[in-house]
Amino acid sequence: METPNRAYKAHVLVLPYPAQGHINPMLQFSKRLVSRGVKATLANSVYISKSMHKDPISTIDIDTFSDGHDVGGYDSAESPEAYLTKLRDVGSQTLASLIEKFDGLGRPVDALIYDGFLPWALDVANEFGILGVVFFTQTCAVNSIYYHVHEGLLSLPLSPDSTILLPGLPPLEPCETPSSVYTYGLYPSFIDLVNQFCNVDKADWVLFSTFYVLEEEVVDWMSKLWRVRTIGPTLPSMYLDQQLKDDTDYGINLFKPHSTVCMNWLNAKPSGSVVYVSFGSMAEVEPEQMEEIAWGLNQSNYNFLWVVRATEEAKLPNNFINDTAEKGLVVTWSPQLEVLAHESIGCFVTHCGFNSILEALSLGVPMVGVPYWSDQATNAKFMEDVWGIGIRAKMDDKGIVRREVLEACMKEMIEGEKKNEVKMNAMKWKKLAKEAVGDGGSSDKNIDEFVAELA
Ligand code: UDP
Repeated sequence: METPNRAYKAHVLVLPYPAQGHINPMLQFSKRLVSRGVKATLANSVYISKSMHKDPISTIDIDTFSDGHDVGGYDSAESPEAYLTKLRDVGSQTLASLIEKFDGLGRPVDALIYDGFLPWALDVANEFGILGVVFFTQTCAVNSIYYHVHEGLLSLPLSPDSTILLPGLPPLEPCETPSSVYTYGLYPSFIDLVNQFCNVDKADWVLFSTFYVLEEEVVDWMSKLWRVRTIGPTLPSMYLDQQLKDDTDYGINLFKPHSTVCMNWLNAKPSGSVVYVSFGSMAEVEPEQMEEIAWGLNQSNYNFLWVVRATEEAKLPNNFINDTAEKGLVVTWSPQLEVLAHESIGCFVTHCGFNSILEALSLGVPMVGVPYWSDQATNAKFMEDVWGIGIRAKMDDKGIVRREVLEACMKEMIEGEKKNEVKMNAMKWKKLAKEAVGDGGSSDKNIDEFVAELA
């Protein structure tokens, strides 16, 4: 694999699914590779590349491939299914052209690290005879569930009163499985996540952004099937092991963060007095739910910093922002890591996206889970019952978390009986997360092993 006279050990092309929650962990992994002498190029869709806010001093090269929606991105597709079909059809061709371009430039690609959401990318890697490395940005537990469905080992639809028993996982209720499994057949699913496992047997490596002790049993089980390695948590190094100097931020934001406003506001708040609320980059919260959150925050005793993306703002109650300005700040995007690391934060009301969970866990912040879709209900189950770092807010029959419930959950995390136990667990996981990526930790060693094979 070695090409004479090149200044790096190998060149990897990294292909995330075009969304914030996928770019962040794959970008962070790329930084770990670069720090070990590998050249990494991250391929974003043309649309994302034009609209993103990028750290000008990143060590990662950014290039583009077309997903067939160069002008409007995902939102311009007729339907989620239409977007994904075009992403596959146009994406495989433009990915192949990108690899050819690097051949032509004398910087051939040695390995393609592709998102598990994009299994077709393995065919492109095979076409060029380069290593195909699948990278999963969801937990090993969630992927184990998808795998069992794919193999016909878990039959759908799930019976409502069944208990799901899978190797290395705690017993799960149907509503604790990912939404595309739990609601199978009810809605056209956003993406056929089960199909991620159509060719995983052929991938050279199977990487996860989780860390070993967080999911030990299921990782061990999965390692019997494939060459599995955990390489997370995939947070900027300065929040964990501090081995990569200046790595303080992910470096690519699809929305513009209101950093100064948020941090100045937090600086003026007492320790542990603020509830941070964010539902990530994609969730479209029901208007009724939005209203319940708004009044729950308003009637609570706490200050709040709430991320409401611009496309969601119209769902806020009239005059809410002005009427609550004394105790609350609403922004369209925050510097989430800086926020979670701030001492004024008392708890995090989260949709339980895996990056958000890994971030809160690594920074020792207790959580209130309000899962929305995809893998979030499963993550919320683990967050509360397995890792013990927060609680789930109970929904009513309409699937809405009411204001009183939310208020009680925030109170429980900030001053209730469970507070000390959760805080102790949070501190334990914070330490273990740091150890995993620190010198000689499980993820650190796995990354070394991976790089040794590339070089
Ligand atoms: N994020 C951020 N600012 C915000 C909200 C989210 O920087 O105001 C980041 C967050 O730190 C995380 C990512 O966006 O890394 C969201 O990923 P997650 O898996 O939590 O949720 P998704 O957006 O994929 O649903």
